[in-house]
Amino acid sequence: MIKLSALLAILSLNALLAMPLQGAVDGARITGANSEAGAWLSHGRNYSEDRESPLTGITPDNVKELGLAWYFDTHTTRGLEASPLIIDGVMYSTTSWSEVFAHNAASGELLWHYDPAVPRAWGINACCDVVNRGVAAWGDNIYVGTIDGRLIALHKDSGAVQWDVLTIDPDKPYTITGAPRAIKGKIIIGNGGAEYGVRGYVGAYDAQTGARVWRFYTVPGNPAEPYESDTMRMAATTWTGDQFWKNGGGGTVWDSMAFDPALNLLYIGVGNGSPWNRWVRSPGGGDNLFLSSVVALNPDTGAYVWHYQTTPADSWDFTATQHMILGELQIEGEQRSVIMQAPKNGFFYVLDRATGELISAEPYTAISWASHVDLATGRPVETELADHSQQQQITSPWALGSHNWQPMAFNKATGLVFIPAMEASMPFSTAKDYVHKKGGHFNLGQQGAGLKGGDIPPIPDAMLDAVIKKLMRGKLIAWDPVAQRQRWQVEHTTVWNGGVLTTQSGLVFQGTGDQRLVAYSAATGEVLWQTDTGTGIVAPPVSFEIDGEQYIAVMAGWGGAVGLSGPNIIQSNGTSRLLVYKLGGSASHPIESKRFVMKQAPPTSLGSAKAIDRGENLYMGNCARCHGPNIGLGGVIPDLRYMNADTHRLFDDIVRGGIYSGLGMVSFADVVDERDTQDIHHYLIDAANERWQQQHASGWWHDLLNWIYAVIGNVVGWFMTL
Ligand code: CA
Repeated sequence: MIKLSALLAILSLNALLAMPLQGAVDGARITGANSEAGAWLSHGRNYSEDRESPLTGITPDNVKELGLAWYFDTHTTRGLEASPLIIDGVMYSTTSWSEVFAHNAASGELLWHYDPAVPRAWGINACCDVVNRGVAAWGDNIYVGTIDGRLIALHKDSGAVQWDVLTIDPDKPYTITGAPRAIKGKIIIGNGGAEYGVRGYVGAYDAQTGARVWRFYTVPGNPAEPYESDTMRMAATTWTGDQFWKNGGGGTVWDSMAFDPALNLLYIGVGNGSPWNRWVRSPGGGDNLFLSSVVALNPDTGAYVWHYQTTPADSWDFTATQHMILGELQIEGEQRSVIMQAPKNGFFYVLDRATGELISAEPYTAISWASHVDLATGRPVETELADHSQQQQITSPWALGSHNWQPMAFNKATGLVFIPAMEASMPFSTAKDYVHKKGGHFNLGQQGAGLKGGDIPPIPDAMLDAVIKKLMRGKLIAWDPVAQRQRWQVEHTTVWNGGVLTTQSGLVFQGTGDQRLVAYSAATGEVLWQTDTGTGIVAPPVSFEIDGEQYIAVMAGWGGAVGLSGPNIIQSNGTSRLLVYKLGGSASHPIESKRFVMKQAPPTSLGSAKAIDRGENLYMGNCARCHGPNIGLGGVIPDLRYMNADTHRLFDDIVRGGIYSGLGMVSFADVVDERDTQDIHHYLIDAANERWQQQHASGWWHDLLNWIYAVIGNVVGWFMTL
């Protein structure tokens, strides 16, 4: 007996030694993330979401030796936005349609894969691509939110489903693209859908069972029904009319959160209104709480603690869902515990994170809707361009903001926050006779179809490309949050680029829309290394260490809002893939052709000029959001000029019959009739013929013509930015 028990003791000791040093993920482990430098345990690396890796193996001196360690093709060309988690040597990442992959983080070996089998028809409810920003970890589980509104717990070792709960009303066009957060045994998740018309909220679910613990609504519901809380009673006094509660009101919590364990405060970023336009949404005025706000909640109960509204009565889609970073700053000789955010509206905010007090706010890009933020009232001071109640106004930033969901990073040694910023403007207006459309249709309260507006004459691609590039700029901005000023900036060739990673060794990593991963000096912005990634990048890189070796990983997959409908005329979209780099890495991945090529002549154009024109307007109103204004600008969804003979033959069956709804192209029979569909088809065939002619035009005179168009485009663009 003694011998047996001694043997058992030795066996169990051996088993213990063979196990990974760390156990399950818990709050202590995430709170202490900085002492576990090699891991990436939660979405923003730690609860402060600073995205600063403590690793120092890759330095400004040796970063030029970075090479590919391994890669994984996701067999999709749609957008990838996830921050992979790296826990005990395993990398957990997500792809389009909310699929989860677990890899051996050092070797790239696929350990398991989980597909939640999201019905592809639900994709019409996703304003900005069927993307997913990653998983959360707690205990032995990995958690993912799905495009169709489920929250799912998977076992970390096998991917086996532990529980699967629906977090939305399936009759409403809600989607989940954001990463859950794991806090105090609860999984926190919000959702999106404000462009369509939904009521925003964030919920907490028991990590073990999936049971809902609490839900916090961000906007009030029907005033005739009891308020969920005194907070909702207070919020309801800032709304007027009945449009908001009938059609949702918006205020979705679709991305950013942060947590301060010492203060026991959960911070959520709240989105835009449904519809965008304040004169339609709340015609009697009011600030419309808690749209475009940072809200602090008690994570145990979901109870409201404080809020700061960045854009009262938002009318431009100026969400405050952008990344929030918790930091300690020395301001006027005093250490302040702050929360920092660069929301869409163009101001960089520093708030006291215990009270919500505004410490400072300054514009981080050129903006025209407001002149400044009044520190006494905490409110932005709107310019006359802000009023688009009577006439259209072209204002900046555009609806995608001066900064969107792409995460920033906070480098403590330099004291700089790195912002993946944008400079762009667009027309805003007020719908004359607004009628809410149900289902997968945008409800913006704007007049016209958006970018085109119905009154821009057709201009050659080379000229349009030059104008767009002149009007829209992507930047990486190094921002000093104490002085509230820019220290350096890098201009990109594309407006839509990746999120940011910084390392304590003094590096900044960012992927770009023009298909590069770049390492910059955190101090100066100097480019120290870059590589061709074969597809545009929108996701933020992460860093981890295994067996003393530091890695940089990024989900490379062009997509998101601009990937669907944005200005990217020239480049097509490569395979979306997971790329992992290390010093001396010598692997390589394929790089596909970057140019669209039409292999077959399109059908002869038979539509009348009137039918083509009508078709173009219908296309802009119904198709452009996914297939691109002026067709195919983004490259994520098929460019309809390149349809093959079968697609032409089946055009009506696809558009109205819905035969491709299993691929995500649902029936539009509720909004277009047979004649509409024919005219859209006429427009597409006409555009395809134009493309075919351009492709086959060659010779020095053609190049000269395009050069002249580009020069004209640059001049036009320059005048338009004045
Ligand atoms: Ca929005």
